[in-house]
Amino acid sequence: SLVLGIESSCDETGVALVKSAGQGVPQLLAHALHTQMAMHADYGGVVPELASRDHIRRVLPLTRQVLQQADEVLENVDVVAYTRGPGLAGALLVGAGVACALAAALGKPVLGVHHLEGHLLSPFLSADPPEFPFIALLVSGGHTQLMQVDGVGHYRLLGETIDDAAGEAFDKSAKLLGLGYPGGPALARLAEFGDPTTYKLPRPLLHSGDLDFSFAGLKTAVLTQAKKFEGTPCDQARADLAASTQAAIVEVLMKKSIKALDQTGLKRLVVAGGVGANAALREQLNAACTKRGVRVHYPELELCTDNGAMIALAAAMRIDAKVEAPQARYAFDVKPRWPLDFATIA
Ligand code: ATP
Ligand code: MG
Ligand code: FE
Repeated sequence: SLVLGIESSCDETGVALVKSAGQGVPQLLAHALHTQMAMHADYGGVVPELASRDHIRRVLPLTRQVLQQADEVLENVDVVAYTRGPGLAGALLVGAGVACALAAALGKPVLGVHHLEGHLLSPFLSADPPEFPFIALLVSGGHTQLMQVDGVGHYRLLGETIDDAAGEAFDKSAKLLGLGYPGGPALARLAEFGDPTTYKLPRPLLHSGDLDFSFAGLKTAVLTQAKKFEGTPCDQARADLAASTQAAIVEVLMKKSIKALDQTGLKRLVVAGGVGANAALREQLNAACTKRGVRVHYPELELCTDNGAMIALAAAMRIDAKVEAPQARYAFDVKPRWPLDFATIA
């Protein structure tokens, strides 16, 4: 069957079409994305009302584009999937509203997807897809979690951040270094020219004994250092601080992932979410996992950050695994706050 997926939880409008044979990994036929990054950059962060309005402008043109790319027509779509949460309420409502309206017009059922389940399952679209069970390190702009994933819809939270997300730590540190928004990729680029051992930054909760994270203190430490540069702008010092910041975040993420693998005895790690695109993180995880005989799987680089493909995929996989059936009921709601381990076993 053909599943159309619509993502609009934050500042990316994503639409995709996947084809499912009822078993095996669904096939991605086409996907299209519009990022609002440039629009929000002037404000140093996402402006919710502007995000909603832009989703409205983009979602139908992107849908047409995807159908054309896949050489398909709307009438052949069997299920319309959308991101039900978590995310910005107004932004989510656009995707949900359009998805339900399209489905109602076509007389086809809908399925509301958990955004993090989309991130979590996105590596199944890569050239080297994982197998269940695995440990998932979910590192995005709003979340940092370690989960045990036993199958579609079977997610157990092992640990998570008690304050800022890893992506947020990248973004906020980047801002302090005078880099643009979103700062993660910019900080990573600057870090390439720096020495990561220059500044001794905190590794919060590294030895806490559990699998939780904390990144709020790191930002303060970066601020303290950055202030010392004022009046004496030195490019090397900024690069060194960027590298030291990245090293602190990456070390904690790597060591806690290894701890989760050791605790559960699992031999497979899946990394998902925007920070999963970070080269230093991939390098450290690859090295540590190779040593332990653990296989690591990542989404394709373009599917690390938000996209429609992961939403269509998650819907198709839920339907195929009979975890959830799509519904021909168009009174929709969105869930701006929605914990994954509660929500996904329907
Ligand atoms: P959530 O999924 O939790 O709702 P989100 O959808 O905003 O949050 P993603 O789109 O998955 O998050 O990822 C965006 C985050 O990833 C941003 O914080 C961004 O800075 C970070 N990021 C992207 N690329 C890199 C990189 N190469 N290095 C570090 N961070 C990165
Ligand atoms: Mg985004
Ligand atoms: Fe996301």
